[in-house]
Amino acid sequence: MKTIVQKFGGSSVANAQRVFNVARIVTEAYNQGNNVVVVVSAQGDTTDDLIEKAKEINPNPSKREMDVLLATGEQMSMSLLAMAIEKLGCPVVSLTGWQAGVRTDTNHGASHIKTLKAERIQNELAKKNIVIVAGFQGINRYDDVTTLGRGGSDTSAVAIAASLHADLCQIFTDVDGVYTADPRLVPGARKLDEITYDEMLELASLGAQVLHNRSVEMAKKFHVDLEVLSSLEDKPGTKVKEVTKMEKMLIKGVAKDDNVARISVMNVPDVPGIAYRIFSMLAAKRINVDIILQSVGRDQTKDISFTVEKDQKDRAIQLLEEAKDTIQAKSIVCNDNICKVSIVGSGMQSNPGVASRMFGALFESNINIHMISTSEIKISVLIDLEDGKRAVTAIHDAFFDEFNA
Ligand code: ASP
Ligand code: MG
Repeated sequence: MKTIVQKFGGSSVANAQRVFNVARIVTEAYNQGNNVVVVVSAQGDTTDDLIEKAKEINPNPSKREMDVLLATGEQMSMSLLAMAIEKLGCPVVSLTGWQAGVRTDTNHGASHIKTLKAERIQNELAKKNIVIVAGFQGINRYDDVTTLGRGGSDTSAVAIAASLHADLCQIFTDVDGVYTADPRLVPGARKLDEITYDEMLELASLGAQVLHNRSVEMAKKFHVDLEVLSSLEDKPGTKVKEVTKMEKMLIKGVAKDDNVARISVMNVPDVPGIAYRIFSMLAAKRINVDIILQSVGRDQTKDISFTVEKDQKDRAIQLLEEAKDTIQAKSIVCNDNICKVSIVGSGMQSNPGVASRMFGALFESNINIHMISTSEIKISVLIDLEDGKRAVTAIHDAFFDEFNA
């Protein structure tokens, strides 16, 4: 007998008809003789609506109360789905995150799962129940309700799959898998049969909004076999796993992230310790820095530029302005009219010419590159926001066009 965890995103349970559609998928897996645990997100735009409702009452509510409120969205879904499954005649029980044993740290609004004791889930499975668990939520050591951050239900599902040693964790969504680019930007984007954890992790953190990146991290750590597939169409999706079949694909995908701002600290002294001071100051305030570029020193000064998420830029600038004298910077400059376009693929490790092919595509489209950053399986460039869509298409063509691939 297999244990399967199935996660359904907000669009998959958006209305009564969709809830019944999910109930049919779940009961089919159950009737085939599997242990089935289901993780659900809040219906449709419920989480956004709850955030709006909160703002009407108090524009600055405590994070604790926000979590109490947001956790209700997933609880609605779990009970509605359980009712639909009851109607289809299968035994079912729904559990909140805390009933299911999800224990998190105390960081309200962006909690990390610390432990997951799945005894209750196991007891219910032993009683032959289908178990529905509310995603995105847990409880901290003070017994307060916490949430895992937007999109966190994926992570709930993978955590449950890991603790049950499940055979498979299926992430059902409104797209039928992971694509070589966002199909809304690039009509010729193709669906991938398989992708490695590392590639998926890069794509997830580079703005491909298929999976919550922490869920992929966790799947890699605990060897959870993942599959991303559509709840609306019955066809195979994309498998995410440790190694994929030998393929000659140079890269697996092109991603674009508009949530980027570049901050430059101009004319700091070209002496040891400046970068350390800047970045330790930002780290102390939990500001996450991505691409970093330091210019070559000239006339005893240099510039240090880096990127942050847009909503952290004001805070970062404020900190740097306050420290301007200590770091002896001439000025702090910010540009948030930019985006980051990246290519990802393990194939680039063993194949020369990948970077030049990417830069060639940008050159032919007359797109200027502001910053470049690379890792073993990723190349990112920072370009003007208005060039983003053209850049993704041009790069995708350069690698996936049938004449180029
Ligand atoms: N309902 C939450 C959100 O909208 C969590 C999730 O969907 O995974 O972010
Ligand atoms: Mg989601």
